[in-house]
Amino acid sequence: MRKMIYLDHAATTPVDPSVFAAMTPFLTEKFGNPSSVHSFGREVRAAIDEARDSIASTIGASSSEIYFTSGGTEADNLAILGAARANRAKGDHIIISAIEHHAVLEACEHLMEEGFRVSYLPVNRDGLVDPNDVTAAINKDTILVSVMHVNNEIGVIEPISAIGRIARENGALFHTDAVQSFGVLPIDVDRLNVDLLSASAHKIYGPKGSGFLYVRTGVRIQPLQFGGSQERERRPGTENVAGIVGLRAAAELAVSQLDTAPTRLAALRDRLIDGIFNRIPGAHLNGHRELRAPGNANISFEGVEGESLLLNLDLEGIAASSGSACSAGSLAPSHVLTALGLPHELAQGSLRLTVGRGTTEEDIDTVIDSLESIINRLRG
Ligand SMILES: *Cc1c(COP(=O)(O)O)cnc(C)c1O
Repeated sequence: MRKMIYLDHAATTPVDPSVFAAMTPFLTEKFGNPSSVHSFGREVRAAIDEARDSIASTIGASSSEIYFTSGGTEADNLAILGAARANRAKGDHIIISAIEHHAVLEACEHLMEEGFRVSYLPVNRDGLVDPNDVTAAINKDTILVSVMHVNNEIGVIEPISAIGRIARENGALFHTDAVQSFGVLPIDVDRLNVDLLSASAHKIYGPKGSGFLYVRTGVRIQPLQFGGSQERERRPGTENVAGIVGLRAAAELAVSQLDTAPTRLAALRDRLIDGIFNRIPGAHLNGHRELRAPGNANISFEGVEGESLLLNLDLEGIAASSGSACSAGSLAPSHVLTALGLPHELAQGSLRLTVGRGTTEEDIDTVIDSLESIINRLRG
């Protein structure tokens, strides 16, 4: 049987065996409730405390600034809804980029129903936000700015340090969705001028359903749920202990590889991009060529629909993702590709290929061969 090739690491990653091994005891013998005073509880409480210390140190934060959540979506919602509602007396204006993840976009749409106003920052052809546009949009009513660190579709790395500085100078909080950058790029919350930062375990070889929100000391947020004193009442509910331990193990492993992994991934990505451009005419790279995540290639092909490409690749055992979301039977181009100003045809023909730890050069060469023949067939 043919080897399956997984090039969808921006969607999710397999749990690393060492992460799984770290988690297992907390699903079996170490089952105590961390809030219990007996030894079963204390042992588990200690594991959560250690995880919090470790996660904090990977981003230059202190332990009391880390709140464990059920993942990136919850962290984004807690940041956006929580910070906006807690600061309502100061103002009602929020600024986000047009290419945010749906967790941020739709949290803001919800806030508009509560009477908040939202401004959307455009991006240029390369997918970059211009910090000058933040300066132009910000005003005395602005309480929150949210721009993602790395975009999940096109992999572009946004100038968040400059954006965070502008927010701070104007008395607004700055949130960044770092789900695609945490464990992939070095992060220091002070250097990046970040007040709130979201991250998720399953994008970095940890378990699904586990993530965290960093909240700078002194920043007020309202909780989204009520009913317990866990996570200092900002996120009540019995902790997902194994998930938290898995997040910690995944983060430590990823951060320990930050010196080597990006170079290896970028070489694979470039082999893929160069191979496609050499062999397949009418291919266009979406997103900035250099300012992009090491593992991301997002490419549009003239005259070919992304969905057909995906289905044909899947038949050959290759897992990828398309930039366009399929809604109610009609293929609507993604908001990210639309924001780049791509013509409809190219926005429909986009393919996201994201390499990861398990990807080899042979995988890349196989994918290029398959793509070439599929595209020739679809165009013919
Ligand atoms: C995956 C992702 C999320 C959502 O994280 P979950 O842990 O899957 O809820 C949010 N933002 C970005 C940029 C992502 O890539």
